[in-house]
Amino acid sequence: MALIELRRVTKKYPRGSAALRDVTLSVKQGEFVYIVGPSGAGKSTLIRLLYREEPVTRGSIKVGKFDLNKIKKRQIPILRRSIGVVFQDYKLLPHKTVFENVAFAMEVIGEKPRFIKKRVADILNLVGLKHKARSFPNQLSGGEQQRVAIARALVNNPKVLIADEPTGNLDPEISEEIMKLLERINEQGTTILMATHNSTVVNTHKHRVLAIEDGKLVRDEEEGEYGYDD
Ligand code: ADP
Repeated sequence: MALIELRRVTKKYPRGSAALRDVTLSVKQGEFVYIVGPSGAGKSTLIRLLYREEPVTRGSIKVGKFDLNKIKKRQIPILRRSIGVVFQDYKLLPHKTVFENVAFAMEVIGEKPRFIKKRVADILNLVGLKHKARSFPNQLSGGEQQRVAIARALVNNPKVLIADEPTGNLDPEISEEIMKLLERINEQGTTILMATHNSTVVNTHKHRVLAIEDGKLVRDEEEGEYGYDD
């Protein structure tokens, strides 16, 4: 069964032309999918629609058991709990330690302190940062900060991890480490959707490629290539 399903989705922002045009696609549980395409093509818009930061203009989107056209306001936080999101610029809280940054994602949904302590320790172990639990973000390298962001996105055990340019600020060696981590997470069953401009990553770590150009889905290939010059 599809975990994510878009049928004929069009998105127009109040001012401007369509950012997505008639996009139909589906992603199964456990897939690893790249979203590629030039700047302004509509990749971030697609991501915003998935966690219901924006409504569609036309068409339908389903994520897990939620039909995003019919979802009630009070259900939106529950939808978002099933989606972990990671950004290029990490978005960590600067005055919280690594442990606290990850724990915070569990505190806001009311998990019990004892469970938080155990789960955060386990997830920091998974991303290889147990020894940095007491550090603050500005004491970490870019790659380490991205690992914290990944830990935070995963700590509530989402079905899907969405990564928007996760290697955008990282040099090739560190990008490689982040990719290996994402693949390990994928092998453990989490579906991964990754928007990227990193051609090396896409061409060396082969996965399904969705290409968006000018709001339209123009390619959908198993083990695809990046396919652009930038
Ligand atoms: P990408 O992530 O591929 O760079 P975006 O989804 O950010 O592309 O943008 C797709 C198109 O939608 C662009 O033309 C962009 O200018 C426009 N756009 C994005 N966000 C907004 C917004 N909040 N209001 C109006 N237009 C927007």
